[in-house]
Amino acid sequence: MRIGVITSGGDAPGMNAAIRAVVRAALSYGDQVFGIFDGYKGLVEGKIQEFTRKDVSEILNRGGTILGTARLPEFAYEQVRDLAVKQLKKNDIDALICIGGDGTYTGALRLSEMGVKCVCIPGTIDNDIASTDYTIGFSTALNTACEAIDRLRDTSSSHQRCSIIEVMGRHCPDLALYSGICCGAEYIVTSQTGLDKEKLLMDLKKNRLQGRRHAIVVISENITDVYSLAKEIENYSGYECRATILGYIQRGGCPTPEDRFLASRLGVYAVDLIHQQIYGVAVGVHENCLRYLSLSDALAEPNNPDESLEALLTKIQ
Ligand code: ADP
Repeated sequence: MRIGVITSGGDAPGMNAAIRAVVRAALSYGDQVFGIFDGYKGLVEGKIQEFTRKDVSEILNRGGTILGTARLPEFAYEQVRDLAVKQLKKNDIDALICIGGDGTYTGALRLSEMGVKCVCIPGTIDNDIASTDYTIGFSTALNTACEAIDRLRDTSSSHQRCSIIEVMGRHCPDLALYSGICCGAEYIVTSQTGLDKEKLLMDLKKNRLQGRRHAIVVISENITDVYSLAKEIENYSGYECRATILGYIQRGGCPTPEDRFLASRLGVYAVDLIHQQIYGVAVGVHENCLRYLSLSDALAEPNNPDESLEALLTKIQ
């Protein structure tokens, strides 16, 4: 077979490990593999190159994606996707493996509807794909966030400050929830908890009066302006308060062993499915077992927050 592999949307540490696994698994079947550069944009433009085993040497531990990634909103138009289908035909590519988040999955679903054989692999730091317990990149981003929060805790404690730390996750609470639990944050604010500003301010004032040296507030992005919130906390609670937006450092870095392992498993599994003629699906892990769902089910399934973690917080915060 001739298999194409593409990374699209936001990059995530571990994407390279997934590319490597796809290439090596496909070669082990005797397939030819083609790297498609710069996401769906590169596909439309025909940026396609055959990959050998050597092309994916020394990338297992590298962050980012050697294929590059890009955003092409116009991919929502059928005429633009037609150009992609033409490029696949021109290069005789039989099947396409797409590594990315839910936008990438939607693009792959639309291509599947046009007859392209697609298998998707979850690559995003946000952990917002419901069809898998963990996405490639989440573990590394969590490690990065935890390291930063630990450092901010040291200085907050020395200066008796409150620190607000905004982490990524788009609309998914996981990065804030997990990093907040791992770093003993006093408050965790996510799309799931919502922001009860009055309560937060009153609690922080109470903490301050009780003589607690610092307070750590971990908050998901897209909730509020953390710099304004820091000012309000400072005015009301008696704590000096600093806001830090961790931003894009969460997207880079050497992938953790968990991400390399997950990416290696999912990359090989995606190629196995193609050889079983199973297409139009997204792969993932559920309760440590590999599984696949149709792309439409993978996109439709709600990303239910883990309620046991909320319950855990009430006991340890
Ligand atoms: P992610 O895959 O990380 O969620 P995006 O949401 O930016 O990232 O999606 C990546 C790419 O997938 C977009 O730039 C676009 O090319 C394609 N895509 C997203 N939504 C659609 C859609 N509704 N129809 C077709 N293609 C889409």
